[in-house]
Amino acid sequence: MTSSRTTQGRGQLYDTILDTIGDTPCIRINRLAPEGVRLYVKAEAFNPAASVKDRLAVSIIEEAERSGALKPGQTVVEATSGNTGIGLAMVCAAKGYPLVVTMAESFSVERRKLMRFLGAKVVLTPKAEKGFGMYNKAVELADANGWFLASQFETDANAKIHENTTAREIMADFDGDRLDYVVTGYGTGGTVSGMGRVLRKERPDTKIILSEPANAQLIGSGTVQGRNDTGQPAHSHPAFEPHPIQGWTPDFIPLVLQEAIDGKYYDELIPVAGPTGMEWSRKLAQSEGIFTGVSGGSTFAIAVQIAETAPEGTVILCMLPDTGERYLSSPLFEAVPDYMTDEEVALSHSTPGYQMAAE
Ligand code: PMP
Repeated sequence: MTSSRTTQGRGQLYDTILDTIGDTPCIRINRLAPEGVRLYVKAEAFNPAASVKDRLAVSIIEEAERSGALKPGQTVVEATSGNTGIGLAMVCAAKGYPLVVTMAESFSVERRKLMRFLGAKVVLTPKAEKGFGMYNKAVELADANGWFLASQFETDANAKIHENTTAREIMADFDGDRLDYVVTGYGTGGTVSGMGRVLRKERPDTKIILSEPANAQLIGSGTVQGRNDTGQPAHSHPAFEPHPIQGWTPDFIPLVLQEAIDGKYYDELIPVAGPTGMEWSRKLAQSEGIFTGVSGGSTFAIAVQIAETAPEGTVILCMLPDTGERYLSSPLFEAVPDYMTDEEVALSHSTPGYQMAAE
């Protein structure tokens, strides 16, 4: 390092928080990457509501405004495990739409609180009814009240925003450089379908790696998802098991993801176990200073797996969908104590002043 850090400002003033969505940085991994391989993460936590779903949220609302499907002041309703709800809450707050979110009781408490803090109403659904239950509740509420259903799992606005923003950012940031692999998981499938549309055409040599939970291999099972006329799932997928990778793999194969399956937008499908993902999330925090959630850790686990056997010079990009701060009450933080560890107590007792007793 030769000179002190300075900054110049962004060179623009922003008219709304919504204009700060996207253009997230691709960041080099320095300590966890094997030598000879350049591994980057695209940190979606840099979005204003700290996840990849801010992109989808602004896309759904603005496409619906354009088409007339969403009227001024109309209530928006959606089933979401959290990040879409938080993104929608931010967008609806900024634009003045009321928002109702349905969410299975199994998802982390801070997600509910964040949405409520942003002005949304959160209606919980029973854990036993899984993603299917919260989804059906949203449809029911929309039908009963004439609300606008955001339909993140079916809407064209989903993959479209990743095609127009996420993929474009990757194309621009790796312009003139190698990009051998892009690694991602799926929730709705918007990220992989949108990226796939662009990368398959414009960077056909880039391999797209898709991951799903080891104990919920919906795509890996090969079992086709039954759907109704509008593309909504007709039933819960038989390969689904509850898994700890929040935001990934609902209990059905979404229509948005089906495009990536039918269009062969991925070269390899690699399962990952939730605990492995959590371990890599911790490692990213502690060895790189990069704070991401369980799905980010899980995606990163696969990226490292590829990096370990990749030839010298390989360039890999790994999607990190959100921030780790969203998981304080979840198993990701289970091993993090509230009070002091023995080591911290020993440190406290190592000098005479301001001591605290062990708990
Ligand atoms: N990780 C997290 C934490 C998410 O909230 C989501 C979105 N549900 C994803 C990954 C997957 O993104 P996508 O819906 O674009 O497939």
